[in-house]
Amino acid sequence: MDNSISEDNTRKLRKYCEKILEVPIFGVAANEGLPCFGEIKEIINKFPHVVVIGYKVSYAITETLKNGPNSIYLHHYRQLNWLLDRSAVRIAQWIERCGYLSLPTPASSTIDWDKLLPHFSHRHAAVAAGLAWIGRSNLAITPQFGAHQRFVSILTDMPLIHGQPLKADCGECIDCISVCPANAIAMDSSQWNHEKCFDMLRKFSSSGIGHYICGICVKVCRGSDYRN
Ligand code: SF4
Ligand code: SF4
Repeated sequence: MDNSISEDNTRKLRKYCEKILEVPIFGVAANEGLPCFGEIKEIINKFPHVVVIGYKVSYAITETLKNGPNSIYLHHYRQLNWLLDRSAVRIAQWIERCGYLSLPTPASSTIDWDKLLPHFSHRHAAVAAGLAWIGRSNLAITPQFGAHQRFVSILTDMPLIHGQPLKADCGECIDCISVCPANAIAMDSSQWNHEKCFDMLRKFSSSGIGHYICGICVKVCRGSDYRN
């Protein structure tokens, strides 16, 4: 494949995402070994590339969180998922108009409630695209927004240029460890405790919010664009 075709596709797609869809985070990765589940798994080999986009979570909204999720955070979370899903569909249609296959994955889906498995892991795609690293909180962390973004992934066979790995990590920061109400976060991200976190999300959900969300480790994780 002529590399100039991939470069041209990537430049045009980035422009569409940034100018038309006002996407602040855009990246591309090889779709190799990225976690995917359910129906997608059966046709994943058709899509060698994954486009990852992210929209920012509002710092003002997370500022309102005290000891757990609240109604305005839930509303914002849903709106971001809606925006991501709509943008993913539009990107997939743009790609298909160019003559290639594309599959927009859901921004937020759970197909296995025991193991909490989504259709596709956007966190891992964001890391593979060189946009983020996995933080101590097990979230994908970007230099510009910290944990304040949500991602969605679009699979495709359109030839595209892949991002390079990001050389960054949590460094000396330990801000999310002490605030976690479930005591689920440790110094090493591999020791993040899924059961403890999920038990807490279940508790929040049944206490009235009706959704498996928290937001506390997002609140304290801000990126370079944060202004007091
Ligand atoms: S708050 Fe600090 S330690 Fe926690 S994930 Fe964010 S950068 Fe890493
Ligand atoms: S989502 Fe809440 S319970 Fe889970 S790790 Fe983050 S702060 Fe802890």
